Amino acid sequence: MTDILRPVADLHTHTIYSTHAYSTVTENAAAAARKGLLAIAMTDHSLSTPEPGHHWHFTNMRVLPPYIEGVRVFRGIEVNVLQHDGTLDTSAEILEKMELVIASMHNTIMTPGTIEEITTAWLAIAANPHVDIIGHCGTPTFAFNYERVIPEFGRQGKLVEINEGTFRVRSDSFENCRRVALLCKQHGVHIVVNSDSHYHDHIGQYDKSIAMLREIEFPVELIVNSSRQRLEEYLNTKHLTL
Ligand SMILES: [Zn+2]
Ligand SMILES: [Zn+2]
Repeated sequence: MTDILRPVADLHTHTIYSTHAYSTVTENAAAAARKGLLAIAMTDHSLSTPEPGHHWHFTNMRVLPPYIEGVRVFRGIEVNVLQHDGTLDTSAEILEKMELVIASMHNTIMTPGTIEEITTAWLAIAANPHVDIIGHCGTPTFAFNYERVIPEFGRQGKLVEINEGTFRVRSDSFENCRRVALLCKQHGVHIVVNSDSHYHDHIGQYDKSIAMLREIEFPVELIVNSSRQRLEEYLNTKHLTL
């Protein structure tokens, strides 16, 4: 890396709305403020996740102020990829209200498939204009043709996420995550380093992700949340501001 990597924002965080997470948005924002972050995205799980919830959580997010505890809080969602054709579980009506959309595959939601099937799904997501960030795609259950898909994420302006939570709860993903990062480096695909926090103290914690990125000498200029300037350049492409 060419300079010190210290992420300035955390664009994948959960609140108590995701019932297996344990902090409120205000606690999350306060934790981000204490750690000197400029922004977080509040990205709770979408409605096919097996937990109670209501779409009003997402459709009413306009009541949230853009800054909480002095931290910019983006209205977001982590949507589930449901099918091998790339179908998402969330309506366009909800997605259009979001500032940032993460698309992820979860074991409990989507049936695993062949490499060809998962490749087809991710290629469809790459072409989906509602999706901004590709969530934790190193999961071995959902292995795909990385060489084919990763450059396509880049061509379509998607951010590939390096997910710190993966190192806590999906340690079997590590080698795939490294491979994904190496391909992003090779093809000049932008990434974002996120905590996937389910408890406020995890916000802004990226130690294992950063160690891996350092080890492969990942170019810091491809990490959109590695400086205010890079983050603002990315947000500009989404007509968003800090
Ligand atoms: Zn997830
Ligand atoms: Zn998540």
